[in-house]
Amino acid sequence: MSGSEYDAIVVGAGPGGASAAFWLGQAGRRVLVLEKEHLPRYKPCGGGIPKPLFSRFPFDFSTVVEREIGQVRFRFRDGREVRAALPDRPVAMVMRDRFDALILQHARAEVRDGSPVTALRQDDSGVEVETRAGESFRARYLIGADGANSRVARLVGLRQRRQMGVALEAEVPADERLLAEYAETALFLFGVPPYGYMWVFPKAEHLSVGVGAFLGRAPALRERLEEEMGRLGIRLDGAPCHGHPLPIHLRRERLHCGRVLLVGDAAGLMDPLLGEGIRHAVDSGRLAAEAVLADRPARYTRGCSGASAPTCGPGYSGRGCSMSIRAAVLSWVCATRVSSTSSCVSLPGARRTDVWPCVPCRISCWARRSGGR
Ligand SMILES: Cc1cc2nc3c(=O)[nH]c(=O)nc-3n(C[C@H](O)[C@H](O)[C@H](O)COP(=O)(O)OP(=O)(O)OC[C@H]3O[C@@H](n4cnc5c(N)ncnc54)[C@H](O)[C@@H]3O)c2cc1C
Repeated sequence: MSGSEYDAIVVGAGPGGASAAFWLGQAGRRVLVLEKEHLPRYKPCGGGIPKPLFSRFPFDFSTVVEREIGQVRFRFRDGREVRAALPDRPVAMVMRDRFDALILQHARAEVRDGSPVTALRQDDSGVEVETRAGESFRARYLIGADGANSRVARLVGLRQRRQMGVALEAEVPADERLLAEYAETALFLFGVPPYGYMWVFPKAEHLSVGVGAFLGRAPALRERLEEEMGRLGIRLDGAPCHGHPLPIHLRRERLHCGRVLLVGDAAGLMDPLLGEGIRHAVDSGRLAAEAVLADRPARYTRGCSGASAPTCGPGYSGRGCSMSIRAAVLSWVCATRVSSTSSCVSLPGARRTDVWPCVPCRISCWARRSGGR
């Protein structure tokens, strides 16, 4: 075994792992982060973050913010569009290599990149992991923050019935006209593909475009993305398209096993309507750190399901919308003609008391709702 025993090993240096490492380090714990890639690494992601998320940490994020969003556009299959103004530009756009690195940089943790974890054993007093290079490390707890295809989850038998969507994302060069058009605007296109959506997010000097599909087969996603973007005057021009799974949390799943806790995408804590996951990774990372500090791992699964959880409550637990309800609502919205192009659409049959009275309303509430707790 290399070195001495750690209080916690964190596997994966995305926002979930970096957040867990940050909070454990703040509490004076000895933390080792093992990351598969060499850092900073590219992560396929739109990089849209509700700005209040930044206040979860006691340091400044302004150096990694590329754009701030003051308007969302929702475009539907029939070509109609709804525009919603977002007061105070509450959504930030980041590039994930820089955002993730910033959190990790503030974590008081030993970081070993280029070190994929390949094996894991646990006993009553701790967890031992092995990396591909054959090194082994031991800690009292292990936090699995290794993303949608979590090896840690597999090794401890969690997330066995995992349900996945798929997304493709490309960083596309944009001329001055396109950059000006999307400078403060995030565009969502619903209905193509079925049970999915596309997006255009602005970055400092290019556009992030992508497509996500949550249900069913998703054939020829790149071609469909190219076609739809072409209609908007955005050309992919051979830009590399990065594919990545979108993990879905199933109802009442256990997110810990003995001394191993799963956070973020590894736990499937992603919103299955829009694929938003950074906030949930950051918050579950903190909840997991708190459970480790309290020496109560079972508290973590309860915390992620409970109403007291900062963001992992309704929508992620048994009380939330199941995947099928969300998919049904999404397809219903996509199939429904919007009745106006004002700041909000009204959908036939929808009542204000419905869980999802109107998807655009929900999305435009997203930033305000998400960070305020
Ligand atoms: C195309 C796309 C667009 C998205 N857009 C948005 C968006 O705009 N806003 C938003 O909030 N969310 C978005 N998401 C979701 C968001 O990217 C994820 O929810 C978020 O990255 C989850 O963070 P994480 O820390 O759990 O995992 P990740 O960020 O995936 O980090 C996991 C880390 O673990 C490492 N790892 C993997 N295996 C091992 C191993 N065996 N050993 C060691 N390390 C390992 C990986 O290299 C990686 O660095 C998007 C997702 C996709 C696919």
